[in-house]
Amino acid sequence: MRVFNFSAGPATMPLEVLERAQSELTDWRGSGMSVMEMSHRSPEFVSIAAEAEQRLRSLLSVPDDHAVLFLQGGATGQFSGVPLNLAAPGQPAAYLNTGSWSKKAISEGEKYADVRVVADEKASNYASVPDEGSFEVPGDAAYLHYTLNETIGGVEFPYVPDAGDVPLVTDASSTILSRPLDVSRFGVIYAGAQKNLGPAGLVVVIVRRDLLDRARADVPSALDWKAMDAADSMLNTPPTLAWYLVGLVLEWVEQQGGVEEMGRRNKAKADLLYGAIERSDFYSNPVQERARSWMNVPFLVPDPALEKPFVAAAAEAGLSGLSGHRSVGGMRASIYNAMPIEGVQALVDFMTDFEQQNG
Ligand code: PMP
Repeated sequence: MRVFNFSAGPATMPLEVLERAQSELTDWRGSGMSVMEMSHRSPEFVSIAAEAEQRLRSLLSVPDDHAVLFLQGGATGQFSGVPLNLAAPGQPAAYLNTGSWSKKAISEGEKYADVRVVADEKASNYASVPDEGSFEVPGDAAYLHYTLNETIGGVEFPYVPDAGDVPLVTDASSTILSRPLDVSRFGVIYAGAQKNLGPAGLVVVIVRRDLLDRARADVPSALDWKAMDAADSMLNTPPTLAWYLVGLVLEWVEQQGGVEEMGRRNKAKADLLYGAIERSDFYSNPVQERARSWMNVPFLVPDPALEKPFVAAAAEAGLSGLSGHRSVGGMRASIYNAMPIEGVQALVDFMTDFEQQNG
């Protein structure tokens, strides 16, 4: 029996995708071999790779002047990939700090660039995003980096920040494809795959081509966007199976109606869960309403001693992965694209029962 899996990543994937992969596992479309046994240079795999890229381009309306790369090293690799590709040694680089993942990007950025944190949500205890237009980006900054969705804090930007002529860079790991996004506003978007795109092992980087000439001479090849673009992301052996599975997930998103439909469904799911938390005196969510993530919903019970029993009883009821991140505790429900509204309804029903028994 499959459970409803609320894990933050690796995360639930569409059952149709898993079944399709299963049916093709030992013999991919008459090739006589599994995708994981194919040379990455074979025409079969090259077609799988190109198709996945095309689907991502069309789903997100990626402009032609942006390259799409499928790389390794996760979003964490890109924390250093960003300054190494965009900032000259010692050049200022602007960052917004909205929580745990911003902080990781900042500390990695500090190794390679002169980081200027131009807005910091410390005062709100990282429960919000800066007001639109409330921060200034130095004109000589190599880029402005922000975390579009903070997976741990459950904080998501409801607007695209204005960085003027400075390239805008975002970590979209836990929100990519969850709703429409105007890619043309961005210099760089990167996203680890293991939430909305498929399994772990790939990070997608969408980068405006005119930025490909800014890399430092000492950028490692595996993080070098220009070199990777020139080699169709195959400068070294890519994680072929993950790439194929991402392609299947993208096809599934298309079949569901694309990112607009994902956005409608995700809004309905988020409204259902936040609504239940709001109406209850038992559960609470610390995030300011305008910055609440549609993807990651942290919540608390009045007594931390009830957290373990909550998570255990939920697991018994077929609701898995509800512990908060180990750094913050509490509970968290990640409700990515592949989580159906039935899963969120089952969680809300469980929460109501748990409150009645423990409230
Ligand atoms: N950024 C965000 C917003 C994340 O949620 C995560 C993973 N939870 C990461 C970065 C790190 O990703 P990876 O483990 O793929 O390096």
